[in-house]
Amino acid sequence: MGKYFSVAIDGPSGAGKSTLAKLCAESLGFLYVDTGAIYRTVGVAVRNAGIGSKDEERVSALLPSIEISMRHDENGLQRMILNGKDVTDEIRLPEISIYASDVSAMPSVRTFLLEMQRHLAETNNVIMDGRDIGTVVLPDAELKIFLTAAPEERAQRRYEELKLRGVNTTFDEVLRDIQYRDMNDSSRSTAPLRPAEGAIILDTTGNTLEQSFKLIRSIIEEKMFR
Ligand code: C5P
Repeated sequence: MGKYFSVAIDGPSGAGKSTLAKLCAESLGFLYVDTGAIYRTVGVAVRNAGIGSKDEERVSALLPSIEISMRHDENGLQRMILNGKDVTDEIRLPEISIYASDVSAMPSVRTFLLEMQRHLAETNNVIMDGRDIGTVVLPDAELKIFLTAAPEERAQRRYEELKLRGVNTTFDEVLRDIQYRDMNDSSRSTAPLRPAEGAIILDTTGNTLEQSFKLIRSIIEEKMFR
């Protein structure tokens, strides 16, 4: 990977990837890249165009007219810009989770986003999280982590996060969404969710955020300074 250091963190929804990756990136001075947010931005574009989330032909035809960029604000939050408009809040709507999961199964969408993700790792030290970072996007990453936890615990964490954001939902709805996306993300033929070769598998069920953070940070540091 040249002169930059890459950490790939993959795993199912709600495993704590983004919170932990963001904390580690901040404490190490790395760029944090949330690739789920990029897929969600495509999801917003598709929904806004009035295209069904499974209509591969029309989604593929829409891609050339989509321009996605990102920037980090003063709080370190990754803001997503779609055709000049900030969609950072909109991408978190529960319906957009489904759009993101459906369009992410399309090879044309994955290819469309691949270069953008690789370019970020070629020009920065990154901690990048997603579903296929260690397997497809950055197969040569210096460190690969596969983060997971029991579905009920992932749903509980996601539910609390959404509640804090003021999104109106229930635990059952969040659990169903997680189960739908687990199945979708793991069973698709293009870049299915699975641990990359050489990935360290961490199950965070029962851990506090603090415990998982310390563990992951120590794994990264060991790899960097050894
Ligand atoms: O991580 P997050 O839940 O925000 O991602 C939204 C959806 O985007 C996931 O359910 C998954 O289907 C898709 N995704 C993906 N590959 C990535 C990141 C996200 O397919 N690298």
